[in-house]
Amino acid sequence: MAYCCVPGCRSFSRQNKDNTSFHKFPQDRELQKKWIVKIRRDIGPNFQITKNTRVCSKHFSPECFSRTLTGIRKLKGGSVPSVFTWTQQPNERKTLRSQEKWHLEEEHEEDESSTKDGPSNEECHVTEMPNTDIIMIIVWSP
Ligand SMILES: [Zn+2]
Repeated sequence: MAYCCVPGCRSFSRQNKDNTSFHKFPQDRELQKKWIVKIRRDIGPNFQITKNTRVCSKHFSPECFSRTLTGIRKLKGGSVPSVFTWTQQPNERKTLRSQEKWHLEEEHEEDESSTKDGPSNEECHVTEMPNTDIIMIIVWSP
């Protein structure tokens, strides 16, 4: 049974209702690498490319396909998957950012009240959020 290895995609060959086709990873190393980057996976204990590891046709734009005389959908050489659930939600990242900001503001308030009795000279406070690339520096002036 072939299944689609794209995160969040539940396609596999047995429930092939809507004419989904499944495509093997390319033999070409460089192209294969591009696919892996595009589908946001890494080769490792949780992900290996086997003969059953496929990317379904939902992740390719229509111009990536050609049809054979017998009507079989074929992926053109050099095609790279480009259609994903995350590319269809361009605002996702933005929402995440504003949530992070909200958390930072909340922290800021807590910190302020706990340092109220301390020295009130200029204070530099560095908040580093785990698992993000944001480092926020808050400077209070007296
Ligand atoms: Zn898929």
